[in-house]
Amino acid sequence: NTFAEIELSEGLYKNIKRCKYVKPTPIQRHAIPIAVAGRDLMACAQTGSGKTAAFCFPIISGVWKDRSRFLPTAREGWIAYPTALIMSPTRELSCQIHDEAKKFAYQTGVKIVAAYGGAPIAQQFRNLEKGVDILVATPGRLVDMIERGRISLTRIKFLALDEADRMLDMGFEPQIRKIVEQMDMPPPGSRQTMLFSATFPEDIQKLAADFLSNYIFLAI
Ligand code: AMP
Repeated sequence: NTFAEIELSEGLYKNIKRCKYVKPTPIQRHAIPIAVAGRDLMACAQTGSGKTAAFCFPIISGVWKDRSRFLPTAREGWIAYPTALIMSPTRELSCQIHDEAKKFAYQTGVKIVAAYGGAPIAQQFRNLEKGVDILVATPGRLVDMIERGRISLTRIKFLALDEADRMLDMGFEPQIRKIVEQMDMPPPGSRQTMLFSATFPEDIQKLAADFLSNYIFLAI
């Protein structure tokens, strides 16, 4: 019933305290241990349930433990290789996730960058060029960046889809499928996926069947 009972990276506990989170919410209590154990997850979660921390804590913890992120970034013709990707439907939600994730990752050295439409791509490219561990992105802008050759998803180890039902309602399914296909290049089988959605219609179940492997379903 406390965050201390969940195995997370050291720096994260301090930041959880700094954020004044004392007790995990129900979704956090159930989802975080499953994700930290490396399992794929499909979770029913509404706004306000604390779902952002539920996928951010395991991702930050996992990225922090994965030292391969210290690969140098080339200056000329640079390509960003994030270790984790968090996809969300809108600019507003991506900004919110980015702001929260930065607080959770404060002073851990884990780099988080946001990429979303409706804002100049040049500034987002400058942020990416400095290095990125966790990319928070909307599907349209991400496809654009991939097509411009600035992002490779071949080293993604953690994928979170937030508000998946809203992304499908907004017509992002082709983009999402295109993005996830990029991750299925070799080496396969090393990606952990978490899908969060408020509702579970057939198209979401199909997405889960296609993207998740041997997953745990959480409805709280
Ligand atoms: P979310 O559902 O992720 O949008 O979170 C809703 C709000 O609850 C946000 O303002 C969070 O900062 C806050 N929150 C999330 N988890 C906790 C927690 N364990 N204790 C206190 N506040 C929390």
